[in-house]
Amino acid sequence: DTPDSDAFVFFGATGDLARKMIFPSLLTMVKDGQLDVPVVGVAASGWTLEDLHARARESVGDAADSDPESFARLLSLLRYVDGDYRDPSTFAELTRVLDGARRPTHYLAIPPALFGTVVEGLTGAGLNQDARVVVEKPFGRDLESAIELDRILSSAFPPDAIFRIDHFLGKEEIMNLLYFRFANALVEPVWNRDRIANVQVTVAEDFGVQGRGAFYESAGAIRDVVENHMFQMVALLAMEAPAYQGYKAVHDAKVAVFKAMRPLTRDDVVRGQFEGYRDEPGVAPDSDVETFAAVRLWIDSWRWAGVPWYLRTGKHLPTKSAEVVVEFKRPPQQLFDDALDGSERPNYLRFRLSPEPEIALAARVKTPGEEFRGHQRELSVSSSVGTERPAYARLLSDALRGDLSLFTQEESIEAAWRVVDAVLDDHAPAIPYPRGSWGPAEADELIAAHTTWVNPTTD
Ligand code: NAP
Repeated sequence: DTPDSDAFVFFGATGDLARKMIFPSLLTMVKDGQLDVPVVGVAASGWTLEDLHARARESVGDAADSDPESFARLLSLLRYVDGDYRDPSTFAELTRVLDGARRPTHYLAIPPALFGTVVEGLTGAGLNQDARVVVEKPFGRDLESAIELDRILSSAFPPDAIFRIDHFLGKEEIMNLLYFRFANALVEPVWNRDRIANVQVTVAEDFGVQGRGAFYESAGAIRDVVENHMFQMVALLAMEAPAYQGYKAVHDAKVAVFKAMRPLTRDDVVRGQFEGYRDEPGVAPDSDVETFAAVRLWIDSWRWAGVPWYLRTGKHLPTKSAEVVVEFKRPPQQLFDDALDGSERPNYLRFRLSPEPEIALAARVKTPGEEFRGHQRELSVSSSVGTERPAYARLLSDALRGDLSLFTQEESIEAAWRVVDAVLDDHAPAIPYPRGSWGPAEADELIAAHTTWVNPTTD
């Protein structure tokens, strides 16, 4: 058991992620009794502590009024250090403000280009000793830079002190994929190449780059969503049962999936770009960055040999939702009159992760009448979680307690980059698609040999 951290140092406290996600999560943590240590913001805006308080207030919105006591408590924990990360005196001031805290957690909510600078500053001041570090994705932008990032982090922190956040892993619906698979005995017998025809995963957004065009130019859909969030979902769906107790067993089982993924080739990928992307602020007028990607993936393992996995994600699609559809094989013989041409969809299991979590099993039932005809109906369970805590609240309190279960390990990251590395540069130009469509028609051709895309409902 590792001791809890006695301070939370927050690099990037004046930034966009902090405003959108982190302050509300810190408030939740205070409310739940999981944050009771100094929270030291470090940035270079020339701010005072009062400015940081004002940002926290703006960021949490109504929550400050509905629970004024917790909000006041959060404010009382905040400290602020103003200074450039490139300047050693910033870290001297941080040491002073930490006031003897011996086991800080340093949260790097900053652009990855600055990770090296901050780690160096921390090390120079000895603030890496007995400390933890939490880093935000992206973990590199290809295999080579991921290895370099790990080199930087590992030079200052041991492996069990490095927490790599993929906030998807802190979401209830994602944890439910793992739970559903291994808490229900009925799943395992059908969960393999003998019964499953294909799997598709859709992560759709109905908005664009939301002013983050400059960031997006260095990312694109494959780097931003496919290689991390979607691969993590695939790993939870495709992994073997953990072989022993504890989080390491889950990590090992997931790593085995990443290692079994066949590296993508040009033909496995369709890249799209929504019309108007090039007019966004911060975007190059001739940008070829993809805002949509459809991918065909093979997992060369005993369980999944021959089963295609189709992944699709994009911006400015018709809806905001995330859904997995596991399509089963057809019955070996057609006994009844219906669907003689085989055009109807076979049975499937559908995991809707957002907006409303739901698990549905589509099965055929007989339509009343003299004939033996039927139709497919969904038996569905809403797994709505109602009082869901923000994923960041869960993950940051785990980091403060030293619990690595829901964080990504370096081995997975490198194995995942190996799958996409070849197609990051070797690809056809991004194909324009109208806003509000399901991407370029070429994505339909990609899947046509095996099935058709199931579009999440748009209500
Ligand atoms: P951002 O808005 O650009 O914020 C950058 C922060 O770093 C600011 O607080 C800035 O402080 C500080 N900073 C930059 N250079 C500095 C320097 N030389 N010295 C001192 N402080 C410096 O970035 P972000 O969008 O919040 O993203 C942070 C991280 O989260 C990134 O790794 C990003 O990939 C990840 N992320 C962001 C989002 C999102 O929605 N924004 C989502 C997922 C992941 P000053 O402005 O005060 O100088």
